[in-house]
Amino acid sequence: MLFETVGLKLELLSNGVNFSKEFLDYFQNQSTHIEKRRAYGTGDSVILESNPHTPQEIILDGKIITAANYNPNSAYRVVLAEGYPALRLGSKIIKITFPTRPTVYGKHLSNGELFETHLTVYGNSTLGVFSPGHCYYFNNGRECKFCSLGAARENLSDHKMRIKGDLAGEAVEIATEVESGRYKRVLFNGGTIRNYDKGYSMHLDLMERVKERNAASKLEYHLISMPPKDFRLFERFKGLGNNLSMSLEVFNADLFSEVCPGKSQDYTRARFLSAFEAAVEVLGRGNVYAGFVAGMEPLESIIDGIEYFGNMGVVPAVAVFHPDAGSHYSTKARPSVDFLNTIGKKMSEIYQREGFRPLIEGSGRNSLDTEAYLGGFA
Ligand code: SF4
Repeated sequence: MLFETVGLKLELLSNGVNFSKEFLDYFQNQSTHIEKRRAYGTGDSVILESNPHTPQEIILDGKIITAANYNPNSAYRVVLAEGYPALRLGSKIIKITFPTRPTVYGKHLSNGELFETHLTVYGNSTLGVFSPGHCYYFNNGRECKFCSLGAARENLSDHKMRIKGDLAGEAVEIATEVESGRYKRVLFNGGTIRNYDKGYSMHLDLMERVKERNAASKLEYHLISMPPKDFRLFERFKGLGNNLSMSLEVFNADLFSEVCPGKSQDYTRARFLSAFEAAVEVLGRGNVYAGFVAGMEPLESIIDGIEYFGNMGVVPAVAVFHPDAGSHYSTKARPSVDFLNTIGKKMSEIYQREGFRPLIEGSGRNSLDTEAYLGGFA
């Protein structure tokens, strides 16, 4: 059954999902299911102007979470079947559910601003803090080619550009109070600023404030960030966070320069690889993650990357490419199911061999990590 469910997740990530008109009408007028919020990307290949609310994620078989990345050409269509949302492929109808809309969406923080302009609930169980909402690579067109942060923040987002620690701490406190048991972790992420050490330290300052305010909670703290240039900052992370992910995105050196010009020119691949080594030395094997985007390079080179990092004690974390409106790659093809399945199997092998765990277990809607950990690839 797990193979089948994970196979369906791959189908949905490899094709995107479509929505029937009837389903979209239903979705605009309900408040039970979480709607898509775009803190860091558009997520969809086309933006549905007339129906602003679409699902953010789909839960398959009650347990596997997948992104609902809209593609009007996908054969997988979310419809209403006997009044309930379902997934349709041809004549086949598959039961689905969505994460519940958080009780805290629509509530105001002490400064009068809406909760959801500060925090986004991601993958059902993760409280996401995305700050800053700008990345300096966009200033001169050197952003990662799959990234749609600029377009999302220009037109489709009401998130704050900079999140303050006291308000983020308050928001986390309220969320965990009103839905106790739902949220497992806080994930910090954000655009890159020119001074890498300052940018990294800003994430840690934010994390520190949130932790102080929520000292009694059992939440885990994760960071996805560009590495600092001063590797001594990993020591400070060690005292604060559970694990750290740094996104190289593409393993092949030439394709890394092509896909991520800003990262490649200003930080460099060589410094990235040294940062991983330094981080593992401080945080230990299995506590540092290397983020990849599957679909940017040939199968052999991403597999080489998974091996390379696995041997280093760094957990390979693979997100599936989706062509986002507003990015350079808005019309690039998504990776095939076979391609993703081969990567998933390789990840499983490495996770098992090394005793690795997923970065945000059960919550990675675009990633293969939890499924690799579960051994879900046929
Ligand atoms: S580093 Fe790349 S992926 Fe991250 S926000 Fe900047 S452009 Fe986007």
